[in-house]
Amino acid sequence: MADYSAPLRDTLFNLDQVLKLGDRAGQPGFEALDADMIEPILTEAGKFASEVFAPLNASGDRQGCTRHDDGSVTVPDGFADAYRQMCEGGWTTLTAPETYGGQALPHAIGVAVEEFLSGANMSLAMYPGLTDGAIRAVVARGSDEQKATYLAKLTSGEWTGTMNLTEPHAGTDLGLLRSRAEPNGDGSYAVSGTKIFISCGEHDMASNIVHLVLARLPDAPKGSKGISMFIVPKFLPDENGEPGERNSLSCGSIEEKMGIHGSCTCVMNYDGAKGWLIGGEHQGLAAMFIMMNAARLWVGLQGLGQAEVAYQNGASYALDRRQGRALTGPVEPDQSADLLVVHPDVRRLLMDARAKTEGLRALILWTGLLTDLSHHAATEEERTQADDLIQLLTPVVKAVGTDIGYDVSTQMQQVWGGHGYVAENGMEQFVRDARIAMIYEGANGIQAMDLVGRKLPMKGGRAIQSFFALVDSEIADAASDGAVREIAEALGKANGELKAAAMWLMQNAPENPDNAGSAAYAIMEILGLVAIGLMWLRMANAASAAIEAGEGDKAFMEAKLLCARHFAQSELPDVGALRRKLQAGAEVIMAMPAESFLRA
Ligand SMILES: Cc1cc2nc3c(=O)[nH]c(=O)nc-3n(C[C@H](O)[C@H](O)[C@H](O)COP(=O)(O)OP(=O)(O)OC[C@H]3O[C@@H](n4cnc5c(N)ncnc54)[C@H](O)[C@@H]3O)c2cc1C
Repeated sequence: MADYSAPLRDTLFNLDQVLKLGDRAGQPGFEALDADMIEPILTEAGKFASEVFAPLNASGDRQGCTRHDDGSVTVPDGFADAYRQMCEGGWTTLTAPETYGGQALPHAIGVAVEEFLSGANMSLAMYPGLTDGAIRAVVARGSDEQKATYLAKLTSGEWTGTMNLTEPHAGTDLGLLRSRAEPNGDGSYAVSGTKIFISCGEHDMASNIVHLVLARLPDAPKGSKGISMFIVPKFLPDENGEPGERNSLSCGSIEEKMGIHGSCTCVMNYDGAKGWLIGGEHQGLAAMFIMMNAARLWVGLQGLGQAEVAYQNGASYALDRRQGRALTGPVEPDQSADLLVVHPDVRRLLMDARAKTEGLRALILWTGLLTDLSHHAATEEERTQADDLIQLLTPVVKAVGTDIGYDVSTQMQQVWGGHGYVAENGMEQFVRDARIAMIYEGANGIQAMDLVGRKLPMKGGRAIQSFFALVDSEIADAASDGAVREIAEALGKANGELKAAAMWLMQNAPENPDNAGSAAYAIMEILGLVAIGLMWLRMANAASAAIEAGEGDKAFMEAKLLCARHFAQSELPDVGALRRKLQAGAEVIMAMPAESFLRA
């Protein structure tokens, strides 16, 4: 059965030696940070993830959630107790504001802990994960009364949150949604409609569930400009702020699905349920985007979690299973066969997986730090630059990160051969669980459209220009020894391809928007490779400096340099092919008559 241990050393290497998070302790926005506490916090979080969350991953998958005739939903055995321990341990409160009982720790630490929890048990980690999104929306757009009513309970984990966007006919295109909200005349609204695919919509782990629901007011304009957001609790808070009268909403059914069986996916029926407007009339999409942007980074992190756990189990199998002999002659002649790890093709799978996974981790931890800096950096210029980079990188982290999660999971299943395909070994669960992350929170193709349609042209191209400049300057500043030089040179070429791809888009998309649509995925992949390449340059620099100074674990640092070189040799060259593919434009794919797709 598959195992999980939190990637503590790699996370600390990034936080300490690459991002130098501890040096920021006491600075604006990092007041709650004590540099000496980073390691103990992460060590405890890792222990909690591997000892409490991970043992429930396979059993939760097998058992799934159960909906009862009265509409209640029971989560898999052990989930409620693990969630209670999570709340009691304060793990839900790490980054939330102190005013509401949070610990106001940096997001760079928060994302590290979220990765551990998601890697250990993606389904269980979804319940607090969605709550975090709800907290952010209420913090940003809620009234003082709403903040006072909901935030402390959501932060402590006593209540959980959900996000209700999707309807049967309105998935990507939220402008089509039909749920309605009629004013009750007392400041509240009666919300009616059916939402589908609502994660954690009903369960038995919290005393109340706070639904953030998109619906239309009676006078709403058509389309996405006419959407408002409502806060609709399962139990209406009484005068003491405790769960009171049951609201008229219920879970109609739960979905049977490919993976994440421990996370209930609910049809939610709102039947004149009492709710309150949050964030202004017809401002729902903007309010929901606050939640969705945070959630998109978090979904990218789910990709990382699945990649990490799959890699760990792929690597341990390759060092345990014996098949065949090394091409250069037996490595262990006294054994019946050599270990899988002697074979270059198995090593290719492992090196690809490791280079992608560790690169993605560095990227996600950096975006955690950028989130902190976008709010709290000392100067306006730094805050703006951090915010620009986060906006630019959000679709990349979501889509490239979840593609990596699925890709690495299937490649590590491959390392296990047929034993990876059978359920009892756990590898196929990672593949099934990882798959959804490419679809929800805006399918990955939609992330590419967001990048091309909004993020690249944003503020006259300011964010991408700032990214180009950052990559160029870090290449110029990089140390000039072997591995660092190799990654710096490959990154320089890749950044050149990215600039060429962006230029092609600028020249060819205005005359034909289909060129933007057809090129979107490829340029997102290029940007993802360059961003992760930048992370490898930083990690290689840090590892090389540590080796020179005789600091840290030499074998770990040397492995970092090998992975950086592998990324330079095996991943970054793909940008050239992607750029050429993108420049083919939309002509051929749009030339096929729609009905021809149906012909054999
Ligand atoms: C397990 C699970 C959990 C979920 N949890 C939640 C939740 O908690 N809350 C919630 O509100 N929703 C949730 N969802 C819904 C999820 O976010 C949607 O399924 C997703 O956004 C896609 O919508 P859709 O399924 O209707 O696909 P569609 O919108 O029909 O899209 C189908 C395909 O067409 C592509 N496409 C659509 N429009 C365009 C376009 N304009 N340009 C280019 N390509 C396009 C998409 O990329 C996609 O590949 C969940 C779904 C699942 C399966």
